[in-house]
Amino acid sequence: METPNTLSPLHKIQNQIELTAKLYGRLPNEVKLLAVTKNQPIDRIIPLVKQGQSLFGENRTQEAETKWPGLKDAYNFFNLHLIGHLQTNKVKQAVALFDAIQTLDSVKLAHKLFIEEQRQQKKLEYYIQINIGREPQKSGVLPEDFADFYKTLLSEVTLNVTGLMCIPPQDKNPAPYFEEMANIAKRSGLAHLSMGMSDDYETAIQYGATMVRLGRALFS
Ligand SMILES: *Cc1c(COP(=O)(O)O)cnc(C)c1O
Repeated sequence: METPNTLSPLHKIQNQIELTAKLYGRLPNEVKLLAVTKNQPIDRIIPLVKQGQSLFGENRTQEAETKWPGLKDAYNFFNLHLIGHLQTNKVKQAVALFDAIQTLDSVKLAHKLFIEEQRQQKKLEYYIQINIGREPQKSGVLPEDFADFYKTLLSEVTLNVTGLMCIPPQDKNPAPYFEEMANIAKRSGLAHLSMGMSDDYETAIQYGATMVRLGRALFS
């Protein structure tokens, strides 16, 4: 347990996020912390809940289903985001479990989500995933295809799309990728920008992240 003069990893990170935001002329509450709990058992998640963390991310629907329904029953409020690729055969479970899906990346998936929302009478929030490094092995919409993709989405389905998300290439300076994301967000008028992980979240904040997704920084 926490003693009064040692900060928990969560509080240290929250302080660091606020300091970094201020350093780059942003408002401290402009940047939210998404705690990434993939591969973490429930007994490592509960201490974060008890410290007031309510925004969480999982990358696999199947794993999330084993942990979160029980947590949702036991504690009042969570905002649970899917941050990993969503297969169309998991749409039903994903709509039932998550509050937001950050990995919307195809029109086909959007149609399935739209139909499933109507079936379940539930509205989620969506971020479009951008394959900002144009990496063949990664999912996401290519930056050059984004404008057309977004236009098609708006004309074909009614989903509450509010932001963008990316995972920049590993082992490269992420700054130019974050900058390009911020430009796409500005052009499209989407308010939320989910970018930055344990190794690069400060840079992401510098370039306009409104949500950083941290796993290792909180749990190791
Ligand atoms: C695992 C994961 C994170 C967290 O990464 P860390 O390096 O552990 O902070 C963030 N975003 C996505 C999409 C992830 O899969």
